Amino acid sequence: MTLLPILFAAALSFGREDAALAYRTAKDFSATCSPRDAGTERGRMAANYILDHASAVGGNVRLDPFVAMTPDGEMRFVNVVAEFTCGDPDAEWVVLVSHYDTKRGIDSPFANDGASTTGLLVGFANAFSQYRSSGAKGNLMMIWTDGEESFNAYGPDDGLWGSRHAAGKLKREGRKIKAVICLDMLGDADLGISLPANSSKALRQIVHHAAKEAGYSVKVKDIKEFLRDDHVPFLQRGFKAVDMIDFEYGSAPGKNDWWHTPQDTADHISEESLYVSGRIVCEVLNVLLF
Ligand SMILES: [Zn+2]
Repeated sequence: MTLLPILFAAALSFGREDAALAYRTAKDFSATCSPRDAGTERGRMAANYILDHASAVGGNVRLDPFVAMTPDGEMRFVNVVAEFTCGDPDAEWVVLVSHYDTKRGIDSPFANDGASTTGLLVGFANAFSQYRSSGAKGNLMMIWTDGEESFNAYGPDDGLWGSRHAAGKLKREGRKIKAVICLDMLGDADLGISLPANSSKALRQIVHHAAKEAGYSVKVKDIKEFLRDDHVPFLQRGFKAVDMIDFEYGSAPGKNDWWHTPQDTADHISEESLYVSGRIVCEVLNVLLF
């Protein structure tokens, strides 16, 4: 008789080493790829950085370039997409979304806004490199979106370009999408996760449940505000979507005065916050994918 190796872990996990990689990547990305405004050469450099770093740790990663109309005329954008499949071609997809671009005209490393969750997705790519043998019954897609930030003010031709492109494409391809989870500014050293009112209610409940399972219920709250973030174009296409965002990023509790300022620096994000965020998101995935 021989002992069978354990083939199925029956859940995804996100550990300290994955959080360390997420944090290292976020800091390095903001240091070497800022600014990374949509449609610029540096924006394309940032996309290639993500492609290289996500490919290096595992996952089937590709660039998804596209053209869209902007207040400045037609411009080129590029999303980065990674797919983790369970082996069943008919299985449903869960989509994780994080933008990587920066807001124009602000001299800042954007360490939290754009870089922190870019690093977090790279940490997930590392954590889930053995996805197929995890026992997951669904597929997982990660999209690093370009052009989340508006040039002037959000509108039909301004901002959310990457998520609009991705949502339209998933719709046209007829993919079965179970849920879309948007991650934004979750590296804040003083972490608090808000779920805007324009998020699917069932998904908000799963996030609360997952946070409790992971032991972090105090860090997640529903807010009454509607936020324009990358989850909106997916909602508009009829997909269920939730936005997990830390929109109290500032010098005192409740303030957001470091957002879109030169104070969005690496010393205001932490590995611990990426660990906590990562653990909660991982539990959400375990609810949705198993
Ligand atoms: Zn922003």
